[in-house]
Amino acid sequence: MSTIFSKIINKEIPSDIVFEDTNCIAFKDINPISSTHILIVPKKEIPTINDIEKSDRELMGHLLYIAKKIAKKLQIDKNGYRLIFNCNNDGGQTVYHIHMHLVAGRKFSWPPG
Ligand code: AMP
Repeated sequence: MSTIFSKIINKEIPSDIVFEDTNCIAFKDINPISSTHILIVPKKEIPTINDIEKSDRELMGHLLYIAKKIAKKLQIDKNGYRLIFNCNNDGGQTVYHIHMHLVAGRKFSWPPG
């Protein structure tokens, strides 16, 4: 079932895109938790991390590679950042199209609340 992220991927609704290629798109989170909060989203509709298939391994690695590239471009790589996938209810997932949060700009606590 398609989500709002499919509409962003298809440019049916606007978003603040920071990166795009044939496999993924990265855009600013509409409700940021820190000064840098970007979502890196595969164009393939995968609802949750539970739905990743063996054939998705390269795609998932690609998301990490793009996260690293964006972090360097935004010059947050030295101070650091956090990459997060929320999965299902206990993980705090609200949009059921997998996405990696890239957050930076302050010190995040550990463990998360
Ligand atoms: P999650 O809770 O991990 O599923 O994350 C979903 C994220 O999508 C939240 O941080 C929302 O603020 C963000 N979000 C929802 N709708 C939009 C949108 N139209 N543009 C950008 N970010 C969005």
